[in-house]
Order: sequence, then C-alpha cells, then structure tokens
Amino acid sequence: MIDTEYDVVVVGAGPGGSITAKNCAERGMKTLMVEKRQMIGDPVRCAEGIAKHTVKKHIEPNPRWICAEAKGFRIFSPSGIKVEMVGEFESGEVGYVLDRKLFDRALAHEAARSGATILVKTRATGLLIEDGKVCGVELEHLGKKFCVRAKVVVGADGVESKVGRWAGMNTSLKPKDIETCAQALVYDPSTDQEFCEFYLGREIAPGGYAWIFPKGEGCANVGLGILGSFSDAGAPFNYLNNFLKKYLPNAKILEIIVGGVPVSKPTDGIVGEGIVLVGDAARQSDPLTGGGIGNAMEAGAIAGEVVSEAISEGDTSAERLREYEERWFKEMGKRLMRNWLVKEHIISLSDEELDKLAKSIADVKFKGLQLYELLKHLVRRNPKLLWKLKGYI
Ligand SMILES: Cc1cc2nc3c(=O)[nH]c(=O)nc-3n(C[C@H](O)[C@H](O)[C@H](O)COP(=O)(O)OP(=O)(O)OC[C@H]3O[C@@H](n4cnc5c(N)ncnc54)[C@H](O)[C@@H]3O)c2cc1C
Repeated sequence: MIDTEYDVVVVGAGPGGSITAKNCAERGMKTLMVEKRQMIGDPVRCAEGIAKHTVKKHIEPNPRWICAEAKGFRIFSPSGIKVEMVGEFESGEVGYVLDRKLFDRALAHEAARSGATILVKTRATGLLIEDGKVCGVELEHLGKKFCVRAKVVVGADGVESKVGRWAGMNTSLKPKDIETCAQALVYDPSTDQEFCEFYLGREIAPGGYAWIFPKGEGCANVGLGILGSFSDAGAPFNYLNNFLKKYLPNAKILEIIVGGVPVSKPTDGIVGEGIVLVGDAARQSDPLTGGGIGNAMEAGAIAGEVVSEAISEGDTSAERLREYEERWFKEMGKRLMRNWLVKEHIISLSDEELDKLAKSIADVKFKGLQLYELLKHLVRRNPKLLWKLKGYI
C-alpha cells in the first residue's frame, strides 16, 4: 500500500537511487523509491566494470553478482602497441566485473532492508511544484496516475533524466558531451578472463574506445563508445561488428545493448528547492573512462546524508541542500575535471600521436593501477605532447 506523503521520493532504482534511498531510510526518513522498469537492473546498459574498493564501501561483495575479477588492464594503441598494468587492484578503475542485473537488485534489497518502500513498474511523469519549490512527484503505475508528496525529491533517473528538466535545472548535454555505446555479451573461450582490455583509434571508436571485459565462463562484454561530435562516423553497431570481426571472429553473440554515457565537465546546479540530482542524472560519470556506477553510489551516499539532515532541520531549500553539491565536488569534482581535460586533449590527438604515447610508456612497470599513475608517466615522458595537462597531473 502506497502512502500519499513521504519524506523522500527517489526516482530511479539504479546504483545512485538505491544508495540514496538506503542512506535516507537508515536515517529514519520515510522513503519511497520508484522504478519505471518491471525488473530492477534489467535490461543492463553497462560493461559492468568497477573498482573493488568502491563496491566494498557500499555493500559486502557477494560472489552471486561478481562474474570475474580482473588482475590488470591492457591498453592497445591504434597500431597495436600494448601498455599493460598488472597487480592487485586496490584503487584501480576496474577490479570486479559485475552481473549488474543481480548487483542493482542487491542494492535495492539493501534499501528495502533499511526501510525504504520500493515500487517497480512505476514511472515518474512530472513534479509537483508549489511556490517555486518541488514538493512531490506525479506517478503512473499500471495505467493508474496518482501523486505523492515529498519533502525532497531525488532525481536518480539516469542519463536520459527528465526530473532535473522538470524542475527547471539545465542538464542538457551537447553532442560532444555524450558517448553513444553499443555492446555485445559474447561467448568466446579465447577471451582473456584475467584482463580488462581497451582499444584506441579513430578506425575502432572515433572519440572513444572499445573494450573487452571478462564475464567468466568464456564470456565477455565487448563494446565501444563513439563521441556524439563524431556523428558523421556512423552507427556504433557498425563499428562493433567490425571490431568483433577483427578481434573475436569466432565470438557468439548472446545479448546486444545500446546506451549513452555522459562525458561532460562536472556540472554544478544539481540541487534546487526541494530537489537533488544523483548519478548519471547529475552527469557524475567519469568523462574519460565513462565509468559511472561507483560515482553514482558515492554521490548517493552523500545525498542521502545531506537530504536526511536537511529534512530533520526542517530546511529543504536549495541553499541548505547545496551542501550535497559542495561535498560531492570536494570528493570527486577535481578528479573528474582533470579527467575531462585529459579526454578533451586525447580526442584531439591523431592515431600516430596516440601510438607515440603508447610507445613511450610500453616499458613502464607500473607501481599502482590507478589512472593517475598512467597519466603521470605519460606526461613525464611526453612533456611536449601533453603540456596542456601539466598543471593537472
Ligand atoms: C554501454 C555502457 C557501458 C558502461 N560501462 C560501465 C562500466 O564498465 N563501469 C561503470 O562504472 N559504468 C559504466 N557505464 C555507466 C553506468 O552504467 C552508469 O553510469 C550508471 O548506471 C549510473 O547509475 P545511475 O543510478 O545514475 O543511473 P542508472 O543505472 O541509469 O539508473 C537510472 C534508473 O532510473 C530509471 N528511470 C528513468 N526514468 C525514470 C522515471 N521517469 N521514473 C522511474 N524510473 C525511471 C531507469 O529505468 C533506471 O533503472 C556504462 C554505460 C553504458 C551505456
């Protein structure tokens, strides 16, 4: 039975929404999370790679939703020069390859266990706004329309977010700020089950990269992203087919997905009167790697804390909620800003320049597996090519 009034309504049951709902419910907030799909986590629109330490911060790792554990990365330049990073993934960008159908459901389960009410097959269709302040949501469940009032609404509705727009927040993305991705889950026993691989080059994925992530039992997520500003490049599926033909000609495709990833500069303006945005809806994914699961969870934890405190204090104004934006920016903003700059620079390089970069660090024995470690070596060995990044690395 759904009530008509809550402290918090969270729109979207992805990682960002579930962690926000969990953190609000744990603090005694009467919390409702709505999800338009009939099954949380399905269909998956993700390569499912995430750093181990990020997962551990928010949920106890469970073999049920861990498909593979990568022991390193390989990056291939356009002409095939290999850069390899191997070791224990303590704070790398990838560590687990998840089964997101089960992972997203496990996070929602945590939210439910903390006391949040969850309603699937329920789409938010608009906001209730009174005197310029968000005070609830309009919902549609099995053809029935109804309204629910809330002290704070959390928009965790992913890359195609409408919640922010309904509140008058500017979350629009320019073509150069979005990667269009295509991915296949394949069975091919020749795939390396211990490494996550990345492939660069204009012929492979203009303005982006291709990936092969192990999924266990001879399976892998094979996908690529193309930057919107390379729109004349053609459909990502054509590139994916070419990539599969070249690198995994015997792969058998089990599933195909498409999806977008925001790769914009970290944005402010993710809070308003009675409303906050979290995860892809707030454009919090990493502009260089496209990784957004961990960032959405981190942001959800901060949002849950700040929103709960604001409600307890009886002040859900934009000014009070801005603490969430400030804390989020302090924790992640600088890294995302740096990675945006690196991405902007890298997409301006030719294939020959990318080859040169790869060659310059192909012999490095990396001490850590963080992206920062890789960038540090690149800048050190290519001061002329990467002078623009010097102040940031
Ligand atoms: C091809 C691809 C590969 C990727 N690979 C990786 C990777 O390897 N690692 C990584 O970290 N990230 C990856 N990402 C990015 C990652 O999937 C997202 O950043 C992450 O899912 C963001 O979480 P979220 O909770 O913000 O949004 P989502 O996970 O998108 O969740 C939003 C939820 O809101 C629901 N919703 C939307 N509108 C409404 C509405 N009106 N009413 C109710 N519910 C609504 C949606 O159905 C969805 O369930 C990839 C993305 C793509 C497309």
